[in-house]
Amino acid sequence: MPVSKIHGCIGCTNCVSACPTDVLRMDPKSGQAYIAYVDACQICHLCRLSCPVDAITLTPDRHLKPTVSWA
Ligand code: SF4
Ligand code: SF4
Repeated sequence: MPVSKIHGCIGCTNCVSACPTDVLRMDPKSGQAYIAYVDACQICHLCRLSCPVDAITLTPDRHLKPTVSWA
């Protein structure tokens, strides 16, 4: 799984705004972000980098093969 966990969210909404593929949403009840569409995650890390409290964890996807450049 790419984006895998959100823990300790303070509800700033930065990650929801940063995500280019609309993976993350705000839960109106808890006021915290949650992972809504994990299959759309591009593992770009923008959500993690935008979080002021380091609440987002990404787990490397073992199904993806590493890209090797021969140039
Ligand atoms: S890693 Fe990128 S695509 Fe995945 S949830 Fe975070 S911002 Fe969205
Ligand atoms: S950027 Fe961090 S603190 Fe802000 S809404 Fe997302 S998970 Fe919560």
